[in-house]
Amino acid sequence: MKITGFETTALKVPVRESFVGSVKFECFNPVVVELLTDVGLRAHGVAMVFNNFHVGLLKSCVDAVAEVVVGGELERWGEMWERLRRTSTRIGNDGLGVYAMAAVDMAMWNLRAKALEMPLAKLLGGCRDEVPVYASNYLWRDRSVEALQREAEMLVSQGYRAMKMRMGWKSRQEDLKRLAAVREAVGPDVDIMVDVLWVWTVYDSIVMGREMEKLGVYWLEDPVPTHDVAGLAEIAHALDMPVVSGENVSSKRGFRDLFERRATDVAMIDVQAVGGVTEWMKVAAMAEAFNLPAVSHLFDEFSVHLVAAIPNGTWTEHMPWWEAIYQDPPQPVNGSIRVPQSPGIGFELDRGAMERFRL
Ligand SMILES: [Mg+2]
Repeated sequence: MKITGFETTALKVPVRESFVGSVKFECFNPVVVELLTDVGLRAHGVAMVFNNFHVGLLKSCVDAVAEVVVGGELERWGEMWERLRRTSTRIGNDGLGVYAMAAVDMAMWNLRAKALEMPLAKLLGGCRDEVPVYASNYLWRDRSVEALQREAEMLVSQGYRAMKMRMGWKSRQEDLKRLAAVREAVGPDVDIMVDVLWVWTVYDSIVMGREMEKLGVYWLEDPVPTHDVAGLAEIAHALDMPVVSGENVSSKRGFRDLFERRATDVAMIDVQAVGGVTEWMKVAAMAEAFNLPAVSHLFDEFSVHLVAAIPNGTWTEHMPWWEAIYQDPPQPVNGSIRVPQSPGIGFELDRGAMERFRL
């Protein structure tokens, strides 16, 4: 099957209620790339920025990178990936060039699974048909203690067995009070992941980490900037709870150092930041060699398939930031999502929504 062309669409999907994570979030900007073929099949991949930052640049990068697979054979996935890599690394070894490459690579895997009439998860390995999810789109930094407790209780009542909150914005004492309030709201049996979004020092992380362990925190995510591999390793060594890092790391080369130096206890792989489905699978296999579990970051529509495909997949982050662009995306039930069984990612773009959100 030959790739004959592509279409890219930049979108602006508003948030329902703004929130503070690493920054204040007001909207998301997916750039959808659809690949077209000589047999009439089409499938899409997606890259994303937020708050209208760089969305024009991202679309330009996707257009530039997608061009190189036109005329290529869909079945030669290694060769297609090399073409993408050679082009995208001229834009950069991480950031927008890699995001663009990732979107095209996602589209190619979606297309291959459609061509073979199987769900992407099965094409990639098919280890399970259901994946556990944790609720991630709540418990933000700007929420009051009362709001945190309300949200946490609501998530438990919706069947979630795990959820993520953010820390690292308030004083240490205040942060611990907020965490204790969430623990009180959910009871002892619900897992609480904590994401610090890279703002602590090694000292903060170890001192706070010891207190957080007393409150039964499930994992400590990105306590310090990811480039501080020695610092991450020191924190991972000092604490009993897992330290998790990797969501902003590009390519297997980036992960190699994290794994070799035991700087993360869980491989958190973002399908966009890492360079697409091809590279996600390679990093997950490399994690397996280090006896590490692998978890997804964002991109629910692809991540559910990726985590379901591999033997060491544990959690999928549920962060449906732009699910409004889809028809009937799968929803969590009792803390898990069933892997869609239709070909490709298993559900289609909503053309009406695409028009409404088009930039
Ligand atoms: Mg994170």
